Amino acid sequence: MSRRIVIADPLKFAADGARLSGVVPVAELSRLAGVVVDTVGAVSYELVGESGLGRSPALRFSASVVLQLCCQRCLEALEWPLARESVLQLVRPGTPIPDEELENDEADVIEAVPDMDVLALVEDELLLAVPLAPRHESCDPPRPLGGADKESPFAALAKLRKDSRAH
Ligand SMILES: [Zn+2]
Repeated sequence: MSRRIVIADPLKFAADGARLSGVVPVAELSRLAGVVVDTVGAVSYELVGESGLGRSPALRFSASVVLQLCCQRCLEALEWPLARESVLQLVRPGTPIPDEELENDEADVIEAVPDMDVLALVEDELLLAVPLAPRHESCDPPRPLGGADKESPFAALAKLRKDSRAH
């Protein structure tokens, strides 16, 4: 259950241009599992080390998954394909992160801690991409409890208007 996948030395991983990829079931990622209505499916992820000419060491991150989110309008399950790509710039642990880096949307800065927890990173990155209020493209809100009436509220309103006009 609690598999642990680590990058022993992230700076070396970047320098070597190493590559790590895998698949992890949504059910094994507890924080991600907490935002779905069903934990079916699995995350495919890949990390590629980068440290080209004049570039600071970085990890190029990509992951994709189809999540079962809860539609905020009809409250039914909603299949949500999620993909995220990002560049994670590595700094030595304890290095203060310059303000301009924090404002740079193109790259996130993370500490190159030894034995970096890959699945925690995958989860952190995907949680950033989960929408706050996902909705089907077209669906109806649930009927109020006890409302056996098949009429929509709009039809009822129109009828009310017509009746009041008749008087
Ligand atoms: Zn819906």
